[in-house]
Amino acid sequence: PRPPQDLDGPFARQCQDPRIAAAQPREKAAFVMLARNSEMDEARQTIQNIEAQFNQWFHYPVVFLNNEEWDAEFVRELNASVSGKAIFEVIPKEDWSYPSWIDPAKARQSMAQQDKSGVWNGGKESYHHMCRFYSGTFYTQPALAPFRWYWRLEPGVRYTCAITYDPFVEMARHGKSYGFTIALWEEPNTCPTLFRAIDDFRTQHRLPASATWNAMLDTDSWSRQPWPVRKLLGLLARPHHARSGDRWNLCHYWSNFEIADLDFFRGKAYQSLFRHLDRQGGFYHERWGDAPVHSLAVHLLLPAGKLHHFSDFGYHHEPFFQCPGNAPGGQLPGNEALGNGEWSAESEGAIGCRCQCPDQRRRNNRGICLD
Ligand code: GDP
Ligand code: MN
Repeated sequence: PRPPQDLDGPFARQCQDPRIAAAQPREKAAFVMLARNSEMDEARQTIQNIEAQFNQWFHYPVVFLNNEEWDAEFVRELNASVSGKAIFEVIPKEDWSYPSWIDPAKARQSMAQQDKSGVWNGGKESYHHMCRFYSGTFYTQPALAPFRWYWRLEPGVRYTCAITYDPFVEMARHGKSYGFTIALWEEPNTCPTLFRAIDDFRTQHRLPASATWNAMLDTDSWSRQPWPVRKLLGLLARPHHARSGDRWNLCHYWSNFEIADLDFFRGKAYQSLFRHLDRQGGFYHERWGDAPVHSLAVHLLLPAGKLHHFSDFGYHHEPFFQCPGNAPGGQLPGNEALGNGEWSAESEGAIGCRCQCPDQRRRNNRGICLD
C-alpha cells in the first residue's frame, strides 16, 4: 500500500532557489490580515517576518481589514513594511454586526452566560462578530474580488523556515482548495450544536456522508460500540448526539493560518451552508469559531485530496507551533511526521524545531537557500 504522504506530500522537500519560482507565472493571490489599530507592532512583526521568509522574493499584495477606520500611523508603518502592494480596507458595518433575526439584548444575555460558564472568549461581543465575519462575509468582501487565493496572516504569528516556492501556484497545480498547518481539538463548550447544524444541512441537501466527512466523526467512542450500546447511549445522550455515528471528534484546522481558494468559499455550496448556520444563531448564542466552521465545511463539501497539510512550514501562533517534519532539522526520532506541539520558550531553540532553511540562508548570506 502507498504511504499516506503520497496522497498529500509537501510541495517541495528541500530549500529551493526562490528566484526560480518567483520568475514563473503567478496566481491571483493576496495575503489578508484582519487587525486592530492597537495591534500595529504585532502586525508589523508579522509582515517583517513573512517578508524575510517569503515575500521578499514574491511581492504578493497584503489586504489589511479592520472594522474601524485605520489610523494614519498604522497605514504609514505597514505600507513601509510590505514589499508588494498594501491595501487598507474598512469592513462594511453590516458585515460586522448582528443579522436582523438576532436580538442583540438576547445575544448579550447568552454571551454573559457563556462568560460565566468559562467559554473561551464567549463574553466578548467583538470576538463573536469576528468569528461570524471570518466564517462568511469575509469571502465576499469587494477587496478580495480581484483574487482567487488568500493566505491568512495574524498580528504576532511567526514563520520559522524560509518558504522558497510559491504555495499559491502549487495549490493550483495540485488541484488543492484548502491548506492548513496545525490541526487541534475544539473546546466543546464553544459550539455544542455546530456539528448537528452542519449535519442537518448535509441531510437537507442530500449530501453523502463521504469518507472525508466521516473522518470528522468520533468513531472511537461511538461508532465502534456494538449497536445495543449505541442505542442505549443514544437514549441517554443530548439530542445532537442521538443518532449513531454523528458525533464530531472535535478535530479542526487552526484558521489563523490558511491558504485557500476564494472561489470555493465564495461559491454557492459554502455560502449556502454559511447562511444556514447564520440563521441558527450559534455565532452569538454559542461561540462558534470560524476554524471549526471552515474545517467541517471543507470535509463536507470537498474530497480529502483537495486538502493540503503544509507540513514543511514552520509556524508559530501562541501557544502552538508546527515543526517542519520534512526539514533536515525536523527529522529526529519522534518528529518525523506532523510536528505539532505545545509552545514553550525552551522548545523554541530545540533542534527538533529548527528549520534547515534559515541555517542555509545564513551560510550563503544572500537571503537564498541553495542546496
Ligand atoms: P485568537 O487567535 O482566537 O486568540 O483571536 P485573535 O485575538 O488573534 O483574533 C483573530 C484575528 O482577528 C486577529 O487577526 C485579530 O487581529 C482579529 N480581531 C479580533 N478581534 C478584532 C476586532 O474587534 N477588530 C479587528 N479589526 N480585528 C479583530
Ligand atoms: Mn490569533
